[in-house]
Amino acid sequence: MASGGRKRKLIVQKYGGTSVGDISRMQNVARRALAAQRAGNDVVLVVSAMSGETNRLLKLINDITPTASEREQDVVLATGEQVSVGLVAIAIQAAGGKATSVLGHQCRILTDSTHSKARIQQIDGTRLLDAVKQGHIAVVAGFQGVDEAGNITTLGRGGSDTTAVAIAAALEADACEIYTDVDGVYTTDPNVAPAARKLDRISYEEMLELASLGAKVLQIRSVEFAMKYRVPLWVKSSFTDDPGTLVCEEDASMEDLVVSGIALDRNEARISVRNVPDQPGIAAQIFGALDEKAIVVDLIVQNPPLEGKCNLTFTVGRADLVKATEVVKKLSKSLGAGEISTDQDIAKVSIVGVGMRNHSGVAARMFRTLSSEGVNILAISTSEIRVSCLIASKYAELAVRALHTEFGLDAKARKPARKGK
Ligand code: ASP
Ligand code: MG
Repeated sequence: MASGGRKRKLIVQKYGGTSVGDISRMQNVARRALAAQRAGNDVVLVVSAMSGETNRLLKLINDITPTASEREQDVVLATGEQVSVGLVAIAIQAAGGKATSVLGHQCRILTDSTHSKARIQQIDGTRLLDAVKQGHIAVVAGFQGVDEAGNITTLGRGGSDTTAVAIAAALEADACEIYTDVDGVYTTDPNVAPAARKLDRISYEEMLELASLGAKVLQIRSVEFAMKYRVPLWVKSSFTDDPGTLVCEEDASMEDLVVSGIALDRNEARISVRNVPDQPGIAAQIFGALDEKAIVVDLIVQNPPLEGKCNLTFTVGRADLVKATEVVKKLSKSLGAGEISTDQDIAKVSIVGVGMRNHSGVAARMFRTLSSEGVNILAISTSEIRVSCLIASKYAELAVRALHTEFGLDAKARKPARKGK
């Protein structure tokens, strides 16, 4: 990304809810931002609501009604970030610096009108650039925007990440640093595999796969945004000086590593429909009906037909299982399909790596590893840089650890991870 012809570097730093969780943590943020400024950078901060605050506000809304209008929900939810930016700006001023808080509508983070999951369309950077030019640290409210008609919108849970990346793109910042309570992106969840290790770098594409598979370090949309506008994205801890993980464009060296990370998703449930008539249009009807109810389907497997009937298995988010089962039950009668079964005790383990494009036998190696641990595979899905297996949830942690070792990701076994060459 270009630096917009500036002499000083421009850095966007984003601090999440735990990093601004209380006053002393906000003072820590103020110190860090001032240190970055003293080091010769122009600094724009993006902050989230204090940890727990967005949930508290949601609860207040739900105490009135579970069906509140989305416009008014956004009015309430956006206040969490307003408190944070004001307090952080005050903390910077109290520490002797200059700071200006800026709300979403004030720097015109223009979004569409889809309340609670609005998409950013445009940002006017003038106000932020004017502030930093005058030596101020601009403290921008994450998560919120404004639509064409002037309504307050919010970007979906975890949306401050996306605010930060979008601002970095709009201002052509030199870097976007996401400060959080972990010190970077790990090869897998360290709580599941103690041998997990922090990655120095990871490509946008891999991060996107890992994020969509449940690695919750970054909001998925922020990674999409960073990839589209080529924003170099750092994930760092706000409590240590660790350099963190750089999410960036893929380069040749990344391909040496066959697998970069292993993801575990326990939030899916399986639905199987037996004896579905083998005719054109059946899948379209089933998945069309699910789509109409806004149910996202992930993995789909259809067995080859036997005597004009086949079995169909797919997964949905666990929260959607009841709704999805109802939809399929209703349809199966008119379709003449057979028995429907569901299972919540499943998990999806996935291996992810851009190196898969150039190495053969990666999937087979994954299946062998699972089989040698006695783990049965219920369904498989793949993309160019990912292989996912659906397994019984009781084997989830075992599977992750075995794969982590097999693909050379264990902390002490870094070298053997590099294949061939
Ligand atoms: N405060 C919002 C949330 O809790 C946005 C964010 O933290 O990024 O989801
Ligand atoms: Mg977050």
